[in-house]
Amino acid sequence: QGLFAALTPQAPDPLLSLIALYREDARPEKIDLGVGVYRDEAGHTPIMRAMKAAERKLVDEQPTKSYLGPEGDVGFVALSARLAMGPQAEGLIGVQTPGGTGALRLAAALVQSARPGGTVWLGAPSWPIHAPIFESAGLKVCSYRHYDPATGALAFEDILEALGQASAGDVFLIHGCCHNPSGADPDAGQWAEIARLTAERGVVPLIDLAYQGLGEGLDEDAAGARLVVAAVDEALVAYSCDKNFGLYRERTGALFVKAAGSIDATRSNLHALARYMWSMPPDHGAAAARIILETPALAADWRMELDTVRERLNAVRQALAAAHPRLAPLGGQKGMFSLLPLTPDQVIAIRKDHAVYMAGSGRINIAGLTLESVPRFVQAFDAVLS
Ligand code: PMP
Repeated sequence: QGLFAALTPQAPDPLLSLIALYREDARPEKIDLGVGVYRDEAGHTPIMRAMKAAERKLVDEQPTKSYLGPEGDVGFVALSARLAMGPQAEGLIGVQTPGGTGALRLAAALVQSARPGGTVWLGAPSWPIHAPIFESAGLKVCSYRHYDPATGALAFEDILEALGQASAGDVFLIHGCCHNPSGADPDAGQWAEIARLTAERGVVPLIDLAYQGLGEGLDEDAAGARLVVAAVDEALVAYSCDKNFGLYRERTGALFVKAAGSIDATRSNLHALARYMWSMPPDHGAAAARIILETPALAADWRMELDTVRERLNAVRQALAAAHPRLAPLGGQKGMFSLLPLTPDQVIAIRKDHAVYMAGSGRINIAGLTLESVPRFVQAFDAVLS
């Protein structure tokens, strides 16, 4: 028996099979609400204007491709930390990572080094990759209810209860904004309560900030995360530039860590763990994002284009909420995703009978719709409900 005979086949990512089905569908009116990338009104995922300009500059002016350290582009790390965390960025350790996924994986490895087999609290539902990232690092995942399908809002009492049950030194994952998949974020009062309890319980928040700027605005979307990090001595922030800079395949992100009195040991562990996993992060996306952030004209243009992205998402969201009573909760949710109140059978029916493609959970990517396609979508939604 060979070594690999012990392996069992893994299920393919259901969203990837959905892409294939969508591609094969010949119906011209088909609507794709599956994969989580932003799309403009024409259905494209554009390279942002400032990004194109920064990439040109990078190609023209980059003097070498020699190695950087495991922390990546230090200019990018400092500027993205400032963007995410505001003035308190000064006190954080930062490491550039391969996307938000890399940041989460590095966070998991750091926690596993500090407390082997430690506990991560994860609200359900969540991004499906969260639990396997922590489990494959050797950590234990405890689940609690994040979202109440009956109201389309946060299951806030359940979050408080989970925080109450967590022990000091447990990690508590919180989506910084634009919750994936539910779109249900805490309001300002709830963030304050979360921050207070996190500090009181000695729980270490791990904030996953993958959609900054796609909800209400760059600073607004980070306000809750900043409040929580300010309230505690130890915190982790997994940051992604893949949505707000449109960098996806360039794998651009960072992990920011607040480490109380253990700054040097924490930093050296982060660098060592990064070395063992990917040695150093891919450069291109981070270098280009750094050029945008350090060049005022490019930064201003990037912010303007990000405003357009956010306004488009919000316009479609409000149109959906106004079009059907069962979609009304979407109006109070944020970002690119929402969960529709559909059973798995209804999700199949809306695909087969109406050419509307979405994840089996009923998660939709709002960016797959336009103001023009909303009425047709709502008609299909209503048809499968009855
Ligand atoms: N966290 C959440 C909540 C996400 O939705 C995603 C991406 N879909 C990530 C992290 C990972 O982002 P990246 O593509 O930068 O690895």
